[in-house]
Amino acid sequence: MDALFGKTLSQLQDLAVSQGLKPFVGKQIANWLYQQKITSIDEMTNLSLEARQGLKEKYQLGLMAHQKVDVSVDGTKKYLYHIKGHQYVEAAYIPDGDRATLCVSSQVGCKMGCLFCMTGKQGFQYHLSAGEILNQFHSLPEVKNITNIVYMGMGEPLDNLDSVLDSLEILTSSWGYGMSSKRITLSTIGIIPGMKKFLDTTGVHLAISIHSPYEEERKSLMPIQQVYPIADIIELLKGYDWSGQRRLSFEYICFDGVNDSEDHARALARLLGGIKARVNLIHFHPIPDSPLTGSSRSRMETFQTILKGKGYYTTIRKSRGEDIFAACGLLSTKEKLAQES
Ligand code: SF4
Repeated sequence: MDALFGKTLSQLQDLAVSQGLKPFVGKQIANWLYQQKITSIDEMTNLSLEARQGLKEKYQLGLMAHQKVDVSVDGTKKYLYHIKGHQYVEAAYIPDGDRATLCVSSQVGCKMGCLFCMTGKQGFQYHLSAGEILNQFHSLPEVKNITNIVYMGMGEPLDNLDSVLDSLEILTSSWGYGMSSKRITLSTIGIIPGMKKFLDTTGVHLAISIHSPYEEERKSLMPIQQVYPIADIIELLKGYDWSGQRRLSFEYICFDGVNDSEDHARALARLLGGIKARVNLIHFHPIPDSPLTGSSRSRMETFQTILKGKGYYTTIRKSRGEDIFAACGLLSTKEKLAQES
């Protein structure tokens, strides 16, 4: 049965008409789903009994409670959701003082094969629907605390473009959750056609996983470089205005002895070519069967100093939830898949 949850306003208006109802009923349904947070179609009390009955014959709400939660010593929580069949997905809730960030997944597994990533090692299993992406937010016990959402969990969001864009529309529209697009960040390895559509149709912040300024080295870390070279990505980004509130950042995982030299820092600054952006240096969490190890704090600080000297606001990202495999690049439901099949 098709799910109502996760449909945009125009999809709900079309759905209402297909049920023999007026288009404005679509907006009433959106209000029940995203603002009144109902748990059954029967609660849509401004719809006639007949209209509700008609909806129940064809649709379900499509909400899912989490199946399991792991809690880190640092307060980070990792939620496991059972999507369907053997598909599971994880979301990470990261409280930090008066902020709380939710890291959502957009796919089960991922086909991009980045060398340093547990999700990549899992391979690709499934594209989440917009409702399955949003459910990680809507059904979270701490939903009222959330100040920021990042699309940095399992999967490459721009490889599941339509569902991701629908979920962003629902999060940021007044008929949806009414969240400011400045509180949402999407992270990508740089799928150029998807980036164009994302940049042209949303105001959401963008983060690019870069990890090396050198073509051959980046190719060895991230096979996508062969299809969408980083130089083309930077060229595209230079065509957009970053002087306002919309933020562009570059994510750079520091691998010991691989991409953390002073030359790398200078080459990275040259590649960015003065574009207004921040750089986030990320400590690498070792993963099984990988030759890569994380850089020392002092090497990361030297790297940071060089970039700052070139005018780039540069942070060293705090590591969160490492003990429960909720940290950057560690989300994976492969074991769960193995247990189930
Ligand atoms: Fe996929 Fe992102 Fe992992 Fe690369 S880093 S394999 S794009 S989830």
